[in-house]
Amino acid sequence: MPMRPEFTDRLTPVVDRIADHYGTPFHIYDEKGIRDTCRHLKTLFSGITGFSEYFAVKALPNPEILKIFKEEGFGFDCSSTPELQLARMAGGHGDALMFTSNNTTEEEFRAAAAEGGSVLNLDDISLIEKVPEMPELICFRYNPGNRRTGNEIIGNPLEAKYGVSHDQLEGAYRKAMERGATRFGLHTMLASNELNHTYMVETAAMLLDRIRDLRKTLGITFEFINIGGGLGIPYEPGQEALDITAMAKEITALFNTFEKEEGYMPRLCMESGRFMAGPHGALVTRVINKKETYRTYVGVDACMSALMRPGMYGAYHHITVPAKADLPCDTVVDVVGSLCENNDKFAIQRDLPALAEGDLLLIHDTGAHGHAMGFNYNGKMRPKELLLESNGSVHMIRREETFEDYTATLLCDAAPFNPTA
Ligand SMILES: *Cc1c(COP(=O)(O)O)cnc(C)c1O
Repeated sequence: MPMRPEFTDRLTPVVDRIADHYGTPFHIYDEKGIRDTCRHLKTLFSGITGFSEYFAVKALPNPEILKIFKEEGFGFDCSSTPELQLARMAGGHGDALMFTSNNTTEEEFRAAAAEGGSVLNLDDISLIEKVPEMPELICFRYNPGNRRTGNEIIGNPLEAKYGVSHDQLEGAYRKAMERGATRFGLHTMLASNELNHTYMVETAAMLLDRIRDLRKTLGITFEFINIGGGLGIPYEPGQEALDITAMAKEITALFNTFEKEEGYMPRLCMESGRFMAGPHGALVTRVINKKETYRTYVGVDACMSALMRPGMYGAYHHITVPAKADLPCDTVVDVVGSLCENNDKFAIQRDLPALAEGDLLLIHDTGAHGHAMGFNYNGKMRPKELLLESNGSVHMIRREETFEDYTATLLCDAAPFNPTA
């Protein structure tokens, strides 16, 4: 099922009034749903001491949302200086921040070490010398190379730009030890929107094998493994959800076996974005035009600036019409934005109830990689973000962009520089 039914039930009766009050389009996020998912995840993995989820900030980088994750006891996964700053604004610091960057600059390393630091997750062996100060605790992102991957968004590990190769891994930790590291973690991120829980279990097993091997060869005890993000959500009706219960059970069993054999249990870290936030957001947009040419086009007041995934990956986002929920889906339409790009379509040849100007549409599952991916091509502004709070009130947590925002970086009067002088 796309979008949690509980969210739909909370939103449907009030969506018209919210749209009238704030104006469309907007993304709206469900606080209750986010908190429920956080608590469910913690309960499922409670058999592993020190289980921690680091919410991937890039999925929904709004400090008001990050604060909810912080309150639920989660850390943050960041991969840029601004993401670190946002996470710190929400109260994340030290061990509760994981800095998983790639192609990293010295400034980023300094930002990662600033203000109480973060856990440094290095993407390459060459970076060991570039870290201005080697922290006590160091983690490497592992790329196992030849391994079946979940799906095409991440691609074949052999072609992926991420991580330390299999043959480099031991040397990477050895070098980090020479530079003074004394505490260790191991990370990998191999999946994206993965719905097969077995794949995630295999990833955990692979990392546990690696830290077992590395303990033998290097004599180091790993504090944690981090299986990355990439847990999938069912975007399409009828798609089976990831069996997170089975995943937790099977990974817990692996950890128990590991503890028996090795005499200790490492922590398990995850850094999911989509799974935590995706189903708890919706893009609400209004039909403003209808056009009959070779196809029927339904023009809405949002466009790709609000949601890139359909245009960029051909991703499916379910669409419902709250006021016409009981009508049959007996017309076939393309739901389009206003960008001068033919891939600015939220849905292609989709069965929907007959639509009229003024109808409100819910585009489902926009809580992760939705607003965050938006862009300003064609002078299209990104929409506002609202939070449907647990108590039923609605809080605007980001306004829509304006022409002033769009032109804020222009420097018409800057003094020219003459490079030949
Ligand atoms: C994007 C990303 C994530 C989050 O991915 P989801 O698919 O949203 O779970 C986690 N870790 C890293 C390193 C990433 O690049």
